[in-house]
Amino acid sequence: MSSSTATHESPPSIALEQLALHLRHTFTIARASEDVATTVLLTVKVGGVAALGEASPIQRYNESVEQVAELLQRLPLNGVDLWRFDDVIDLLPVHAYAARCALDLALHDLAGKRVGIPVYKLLGLNPERALETSFTIGIADLDKTVEKTKEARHLPILKVKLGSGNEIETLEAIRSVYSGRIRLDANEGWTPQGAVSMLKALKRFDIEFCEQPIDAGHPEQLRFVKEHSPIPIFVDEDSRTLTDIARLHGCVDGINIKLVKCGGIRAAIAMIHAARALGMKIMIGCMIESSVLATAAAHLTPLADYADIDGPLLITDDPFVGVRYEGARLRLPDGPGLGVVPSPST
Ligand code: MG
Repeated sequence: MSSSTATHESPPSIALEQLALHLRHTFTIARASEDVATTVLLTVKVGGVAALGEASPIQRYNESVEQVAELLQRLPLNGVDLWRFDDVIDLLPVHAYAARCALDLALHDLAGKRVGIPVYKLLGLNPERALETSFTIGIADLDKTVEKTKEARHLPILKVKLGSGNEIETLEAIRSVYSGRIRLDANEGWTPQGAVSMLKALKRFDIEFCEQPIDAGHPEQLRFVKEHSPIPIFVDEDSRTLTDIARLHGCVDGINIKLVKCGGIRAAIAMIHAARALGMKIMIGCMIESSVLATAAAHLTPLADYADIDGPLLITDDPFVGVRYEGARLRLPDGPGLGVVPSPST
């Protein structure tokens, strides 16, 4: 495509909407609890094509739906060549990762729709290498934990949220009804010494790895935990963007990459390669989000080792359909762009 294409089109229009996504179960992690998650849906319309993006801003990083919407609302897209992804994304502030993510997704969706191919193909990826996702069990009392585990018993991988006490009892309760693979996420809930003792005690439950055992921002403490833990250590809060990767070298076994943390598909690919070069395993994760953002993440799983893309499974009112779940296996849509369409039920 020549860059002159953009100048002959009517100017792109931007529409923004807040999506209130209702959770199947109150979602509790070591830091917080929620029943409704709000995300920002971005629609960029140009030349008869409507392209979608989404951001689920993370409060922990001081990002909000209001701030994301405001940044995107005043994007000066007139006369801009929307094939030049980096130039367009750089119209936003460098640290506005959630807003950059929504825009990056819309640019990929637009490009795919313009040439009539899915995003995985635009990226040269093999959809048969899409991964199985874990399914998250949030923190709850033991009865509720058992009930939620039974609901998910047919799925091969659970990600169990821990970090606010009762860890051994929780794993005992889950293992009494579930024999599949289990990953843990402590969401910064433990001290370094506490993490090592806890992970030694939890080893008997046959755990694949543990995510973010301690507060983010202390790579040397992570190194201590990794060196003394019998369970591999991943980070999530610590692996926000590309610039975080180098300091984690040798301190962790793997990182969780989320599109909304790092700024979208392009930023995530840069992180994947940087982390690979330093010998880290890659997990692609998600927030509570609709099928727009989750499908974009799914398109990248052929590049990763693990997937935690269960956002659409945790909500009752996803306005879209995109990535499909065959059990836990992610099936990438073949439609153009992200391959996401409005849900027939909404
Ligand atoms: Mg996490």
